[in-house]
Amino acid sequence: MSPSDFVHMSDDIPFDRSFDLVPGQVEEVRPGVRRMLCNNPSPFTFKGTVSYIVGRGHVAIVDPGPLDEPHIAALLQAVRGETVTHILVTHTHRDHSPAAARIKAATGAKTYGEGAHRPARPLRTGDVPRNEAGGDVDFNPDIVLADGDIVDGAGWRIEAVTTPGHTANHLAFALLGTDVLFSGDHVMAWSTPVVSPPDGSMSDYMASLEKLVGRPESIYFPGHGGAVMDAHRFVSHYIRHRRGREQSILQQLAKGEADIPALVAAIYVGLDPRLVRAAGYSVLAHLEDLAERGRVATQGAPSIEGRYRLLGA
Ligand SMILES: [Zn+2]
Repeated sequence: MSPSDFVHMSDDIPFDRSFDLVPGQVEEVRPGVRRMLCNNPSPFTFKGTVSYIVGRGHVAIVDPGPLDEPHIAALLQAVRGETVTHILVTHTHRDHSPAAARIKAATGAKTYGEGAHRPARPLRTGDVPRNEAGGDVDFNPDIVLADGDIVDGAGWRIEAVTTPGHTANHLAFALLGTDVLFSGDHVMAWSTPVVSPPDGSMSDYMASLEKLVGRPESIYFPGHGGAVMDAHRFVSHYIRHRRGREQSILQQLAKGEADIPALVAAIYVGLDPRLVRAAGYSVLAHLEDLAERGRVATQGAPSIEGRYRLLGA
């Protein structure tokens, strides 16, 4: 998921929103890598979820997508005459993992993922109710992948790269022997991802960005929109963007103690009222990280309802 609008307010990231794949059509983007768009566009999913088919003959499907009948049928049609051996899931949001059960039932392939849906930290007052948060709580991978685990297919090898932050169980998949990484919702060309407690964690997210900068892959195929080219440079922009947002929060708190609505009003000038709540959780993600690092203080655990002040200032 990804709310384009409020994160686009600072245009310091070289976003690429060109993407005109027709839903249900298969496109080969690299030798042995096909993609297909699901027709579930929204402010959070851009044009929709992108599913990938890796290999030829014996294939893996990466992110089967939501429970969308036309998409599931088109995916199965795309691999007709082939054998699906693996179903890989980047994370358990409802636009990515629910179709896994259907693809599994139709093909007998096993599902692979980091684990069941879970929040990044214990729930606190003001957190979004679980049933509204977009998590797919039904998905449980047959095979649990840890960081660095290798999945071997016929003619392809994939390395699991734990990349928590957008969700606690987020994985990227490196297609070994190529320059390709399937980046899920962690890094996308069209927008930054939502990092929103309790599912998301800003400190995990920043560490996961630094982790990708240290890896060799240079082209990312994300869960929404087109490929990220020159990926290391792009990820560096992501990191700078979040540090800039953190600086804005610290500058506001330097003027005096504040609650999250006041911080949002000061930092997101001219924000669409429908996005105020999402912006508040994004600020909370930063405040949790800043509190962990001893830069800000609040009463008790950081929550959406707390008041925050600068430490050591
Ligand atoms: Zn997501």
